Amino acid sequence: MSYEEAGKVKEKFCICGAKCEVKRNQQDPPVYGFTANMSRHYAKGFNTSRLHDYFYCPHRGNHDHRLLNVIRNHFDDLIEEQRKTVSKGVRELIQRDIDKCRRIFKRELKSFREKYLAPDKVVKVRTIS
Ligand SMILES: [Zn+2]
Repeated sequence: MSYEEAGKVKEKFCICGAKCEVKRNQQDPPVYGFTANMSRHYAKGFNTSRLHDYFYCPHRGNHDHRLLNVIRNHFDDLIEEQRKTVSKGVRELIQRDIDKCRRIFKRELKSFREKYLAPDKVVKVRTIS
């Protein structure tokens, strides 16, 4: 789940490739589906005095979909960690983890799509890079 300033974004696509459902002009953040991912967005500064559009993946409650999110978040954390270090050696070590994480994500994404997404529902092909 993610949010945007009301009216700014027409459509969004999830990391799984599905087109997101949207609830427009919301004042309060929805309690349902509050995830670690959402917390990150909050941390960046969420303004409750404005209206927002909330985008949801239709597969958000799915166990395999949660796994995709976990891998994706781990990937982002690795990138952040790599960015912070001043050590070339540590950077190279983290790069190995990043490459491994990317491979796992691609594999899980492929399997998720085969299981849950009809070919005509996969609108955008997105992998982490
Ligand atoms: Zn999704």
